[in-house]
Amino acid sequence: MKLYNMYIDGQWFGEGYETIKVINPANGELVGEVPYAGEKETNQAINVAHTGFKKWSSLTAYDRAGYLRKLYQLMMEHQEELAEMMTLEMGKPIKESRGEVQYAASFIDWFAEEGKRIYGETIPTHAGSKRLQVWKKPVGVVAAITPWNFPIAMLTRKMGPALAAGCTVVIKPSSETPISAIKLIELCEKAGFPKGVVNLVTGSSSKITKAIMENNKVRKITFTGSTEVGKILIRQSADQVKKLSLELGGHAPLIVLDDANVDTAVKGAIASKFRNTGQTCICANRIYVQSGIYDEFVEKFAKAVKGLKVGNGMDEMVDVGPLINKEGLEKVENHVEDAVSKGAKVVAGGSPYTKENVGFFYTPTVIKDVNESMVVMEEETFGPVAPIQKVETEEEAIQLANDTPYGLAAYVFTENVARGMRVIERLDYGIVGWNDGAPSAAQVPFGGMKESGVGREGGHEGIDAFVETQYVAIGME
Ligand code: NAP
Repeated sequence: MKLYNMYIDGQWFGEGYETIKVINPANGELVGEVPYAGEKETNQAINVAHTGFKKWSSLTAYDRAGYLRKLYQLMMEHQEELAEMMTLEMGKPIKESRGEVQYAASFIDWFAEEGKRIYGETIPTHAGSKRLQVWKKPVGVVAAITPWNFPIAMLTRKMGPALAAGCTVVIKPSSETPISAIKLIELCEKAGFPKGVVNLVTGSSSKITKAIMENNKVRKITFTGSTEVGKILIRQSADQVKKLSLELGGHAPLIVLDDANVDTAVKGAIASKFRNTGQTCICANRIYVQSGIYDEFVEKFAKAVKGLKVGNGMDEMVDVGPLINKEGLEKVENHVEDAVSKGAKVVAGGSPYTKENVGFFYTPTVIKDVNESMVVMEEETFGPVAPIQKVETEEEAIQLANDTPYGLAAYVFTENVARGMRVIERLDYGIVGWNDGAPSAAQVPFGGMKESGVGREGGHEGIDAFVETQYVAIGME
């Protein structure tokens, strides 16, 4: 079985280590193995990133953009290879994996250009003998910790701005999907990034994070993952006051009001809920439909959901792949059982897709007549289950939508412009899709309010996280 190695200081290594086995969730087959490393290797990576920082940060933004553009081209040339590995590692339908590679590459493309627009300022002085300026400088060595559900895009959304700003990076990918990240780093090597600029360590998340937190050469941690782990990192980072960017969990409400176009709402809800088998941070977790169109929406939505094809993501026709692992499948089963035991009615799906002991599939499911007492309306399900609750008024929908510690994404379906704006103004969410179930793009700010995170990735804001502001007062006498 193939061993995929770590990358530190331009060298690949990993022979002789204990390994992490990467399993295909569609059939239980071994995809590959990666080294199970810890503090020593992480400190090596941090040290070379620190050495590499001096040279990399002194290149011009135009020089750095050249490397990033090369990486973008290589990603597009290797799109199929990257997409196939992603599907093998985590089950994403291959057509979505191709889409993720394009989306991931778009961050490299966007930030190659944004790096040229990190402007300082000259501020009008209060004294004739002084000049006041604001300079911008890269923050330093960045540690990037990423999840499994978008194994390449969550990495490039961090690497793109970090590298463009002049930072060097130490990457710790999810242990569920390390090989997709390693494939991306192989392309960084091909693109010719200088040694030490990009490094990747696989292994124990607690040991790697301990080294990151204790090594004062790391000035910035950028994390995407669960709110639970995000809170641990906030506490651990306090001792050295490290800069933190956090893209955390969500529990997105999707509101369909009486004056919505029902077909548009069904299409948007399918896109939002079932993409990546319901394993996205911004996927609709709670669907609130106003009473006037409740029955029509439920019927059309359930019909569309029953038409989704489930199976191994390598099949071009598949819409919904497996859950990432056994725990993921059990969580989905528990959420549905809890809802049904409290009175919800299953109108599509409602059971594991196969009773065989291979593949973590769950049938795309719609449950109606749910209410706030059910776990599915509170916790991230991270699976292909759409719970629908009937609401009487716009006010009730807003109040229920905001009644959560999360604040990442929300969706609103209405054809009435004034009503749409009125509702959105009152939603405490960092991202809102209005008659749109797929709002993400490289050029827009992505991130959450409340316990869904700190900071924004993407857009022109995305690079702010990787630069420091330095105010310079210049005496002229
Ligand atoms: P996770 O369990 O929080 O893991 C994320 C990363 O943190 C992985 O690399 C993991 O490593 C590492 N990790 C786990 N426990 C750790 C600890 N105690 N200390 C330090 N690092 C630790 O999240 P996940 O299951 O991979 O991803 C799903 C979550 O990510 C969901 O909550 C989803 O909403 C969120 N997410 C948010 C966004 C966003 O943009 N807001 C995007 C995608 C996903 P190991 O794999 O080695 O354990």
